[in-house]
Amino acid sequence: MSELMLYNTLTRRKERFEPLGPGAVGMYSCGPTVYSHQHLGNMRAYVFADLVKRVLGYFGHDVNHIVNITDVGHLTDDADAGEDKMEEAARREGMTAWEVAAKWTAVFEEDLKRLHVLEPSRWCKATDHIPEQIEMIATLEAKGFTYTNRDGVYFDTSKEPHYGELARLDLESQETQERIEGVGDKRNPSDFALWKLSKADGNKRQMEWESPWGNGFPGWHIECSAMSSKYLGETFDIHTGGVDHIPVHHTNEIAQSENAFGVRPWVRYWLHGAWLMFDNEKMSKSKGTTVTLDDIVEHGIDSLAYRYFLLTAHYRQQMSLSDAALDGAQASYQRLVRHAIELRDSDESQGAAAMEGFKSRFDRALADDLNTPQALAVVWEAVRSNDLGAVEKWQLLSGFDVVLGLGLADANLLVPTIDAEIEAKIQEREAARAAKDYARSDEIRDELIADGIVLEDTPEGVRWRRG
Ligand SMILES: [Zn+2]
Repeated sequence: MSELMLYNTLTRRKERFEPLGPGAVGMYSCGPTVYSHQHLGNMRAYVFADLVKRVLGYFGHDVNHIVNITDVGHLTDDADAGEDKMEEAARREGMTAWEVAAKWTAVFEEDLKRLHVLEPSRWCKATDHIPEQIEMIATLEAKGFTYTNRDGVYFDTSKEPHYGELARLDLESQETQERIEGVGDKRNPSDFALWKLSKADGNKRQMEWESPWGNGFPGWHIECSAMSSKYLGETFDIHTGGVDHIPVHHTNEIAQSENAFGVRPWVRYWLHGAWLMFDNEKMSKSKGTTVTLDDIVEHGIDSLAYRYFLLTAHYRQQMSLSDAALDGAQASYQRLVRHAIELRDSDESQGAAAMEGFKSRFDRALADDLNTPQALAVVWEAVRSNDLGAVEKWQLLSGFDVVLGLGLADANLLVPTIDAEIEAKIQEREAARAAKDYARSDEIRDELIADGIVLEDTPEGVRWRRG
């Protein structure tokens, strides 16, 4: 099998993946802040992490995959300003912060299932790991990396000579920015909160804990350092996230972890997924440009067609979401599903001779930093090949699907999508026919045809398929 090459943000090049030890590969993925719906841009990061894990498995590695749930400490501004997103959502939704977390965690996990994202080895919640975070902050304090101001305990980035290497941060330009804007109570513009003190203004927080520095709550970055290393060790193999995590969140995770644990590098391979764009902008809740999985499913897009759409681009390539792009992906995905059903039910064989060529090209595409567009091209070539019989095509396809996760390998999942809107129209047409309103019934049939739906009258009633 080919050697697996991964693009490491730390070194800005593709490197051969070599695990730290003989056991399972340790992999940590930054999870969601559960104060609202995760939009499709967020979901791209989780499908990407799932792809990394599946490819590692495909190349023979066991993976110990940890994903966190941020249910406290993520402020509305990533740079330690603004309100805690959970407390804000609790007020907005008229629930407790704990109820908000439970509600949106469940929605998120359901969305993951619909996208065939495999369960991690362990989910971990920030609020379940407060003592671990306090202990890590105390270690950093004992080593002289922190200072306390009236807002809380801060990491002093001027004490860390390697600060910002992951992001290639230009600290000098930050210093200039500081002279213009000021940094409040911080010593340096890049310093970040490890522990935020609850304000003594009478507005009691719902989520706060005692600590050696006073009542308060952990900063956002410390949870990922404390939890990942609790479950994966003080150094581990792979950390994933979105490119938006590079300049602040992951930069700060590295600074606090390398100094608390006395290791460098803390994580060997940093993998980052690119943006999903919408209307030429990065999808963002604050700008109101978000689209959720529910939104597209309501428009008749299969959730796995969205997964297929994501696989058509390399994970480091920015993608644009549009109706046309989703419709195109859906059409291809459904064509692939139909092929899979046909192949599965056929016993026509031409012998295994030509299989190896397709398999090795598929493997090489994945080994080259998870090149899924190329892997999908091999899938289609195999499906259309004259050198392969149906038996061989099905065998290849179901093997490839272990990585692609498109539900092709699992025959039970190959049930055509039931689109509520189409079903409703068909029922309306039935009612019109029963009432002998043939004009209306023909009109609905024409509308469905325009949507690419083919109706067939059978003795068991009307059947439909996408034509
Ligand atoms: Zn994180």
